[in-house]
Amino acid sequence: MAKTVYIAGLGLIGASMALGIKRDHPDYEILGYNRSQASRDIALKEGMIDRATDDFASFAPLADIIILSLPIKQTIAFIKELADLDLKEGVIISDAGSTKSAIVDAAEQYLAGKPVRFVGAHPMAGSHKTGAASADVNLFENAYYIFTPSSLTGQDTLEEMKDLLSGLHARFIEIDAKEHDRVTSQISHFPHILASSLMEQTAVYAQEHEMARRFAAGGFRDMTRIAESEPGMWTSILLSNRETILERIEDFKERLDEVGQAISKGDEEQIWNFFNQAREQRQAMEIHKRGGVDSSYDLYVDVPDEEDVILRILELLRGTSLVNIHINEENREDIHGILQISFKNAQDLERAEHLITENTDYTVVIK
Ligand code: NAD
Repeated sequence: MAKTVYIAGLGLIGASMALGIKRDHPDYEILGYNRSQASRDIALKEGMIDRATDDFASFAPLADIIILSLPIKQTIAFIKELADLDLKEGVIISDAGSTKSAIVDAAEQYLAGKPVRFVGAHPMAGSHKTGAASADVNLFENAYYIFTPSSLTGQDTLEEMKDLLSGLHARFIEIDAKEHDRVTSQISHFPHILASSLMEQTAVYAQEHEMARRFAAGGFRDMTRIAESEPGMWTSILLSNRETILERIEDFKERLDEVGQAISKGDEEQIWNFFNQAREQRQAMEIHKRGGVDSSYDLYVDVPDEEDVILRILELLRGTSLVNIHINEENREDIHGILQISFKNAQDLERAEHLITENTDYTVVIK
């Protein structure tokens, strides 16, 4: 039976979800709320949604499933508002917030005793882009789509959500909300703090040591890429997961001190073990197997500095969709080759590697 789905927040995540839902359920009606007109207009024009509003409460009673895809604070405010609206009996309410405890606690507080179902969710894919204009039907492909069930979630709730979202081609997984926040604090939130701190430290240092900017190469770029993320989103993530993140910061300070002491003592063995352990641990991690939460697949081509060389490679890749292309021309140290091409999935990456190695003499490296 065709359902009515209401997506509140037609940003990168909300609009990409709308596209994914339409892919497997073209008969479902998708209603959209957005505060600004720009994303409403794009979502309507591109057929991501069927109807749009700037009045959140007006469409809520029509929906079988409501997905809040808004900043965390606004998600909580809307959960509170939904508690006072006359919604369809058994409606499923879900969200997309990057931290879960604050949102799930709010749902448990405001929705308990109401004839609604709720399941917290976090689609673990995204980028630094925002707004409906950046929507991508493949954004969630192979990414984890995390559900954080609570007392307002039944097994049927999860089955219905998985069916609704089948067109996202994501990997569904369930985890407790608090544990979600602990795990993501370590592998996502804290790395953002580190990347931004490193960037800031370098920028200040470069004021007196001008060459620091010029010499910064592949390793530095890998470590600081996420420092370009959207500041508003990361502010709200840190503020909604304070205790856990502060604990990670303290733990890290101790680790830095330990390395500092080993260096100051000149303890060669300890320093070697430090690097070696990290190397072994990283090699054993899932990010090495690709297809994990990592959504970009990079290929490096060592190309000569000749006319039309890049055009020739792109011509070979005609028909393969590229996520990004980057020419590293400043400094080759620590960079595999000079032309970096990013793909959306492993098949495209393999196809490109095959095409380039078959048709050129250039060395192709996949990290
Ligand atoms: P976005 O900036 O692209 O979209 C956010 C949407 O919220 C926009 O439609 C905006 O109009 C709306 N909005 C913002 N403040 C509002 C307010 N006060 N009242 C009403 N509407 C408001 O952001 P996004 O990337 O789509 O993020 C949406 C949610 O998904 C956030 O909770 C974020 O934590 C989560 N998320 C983001 C990513 C990512 O990498 N971008 C990944 C996973 C989860």
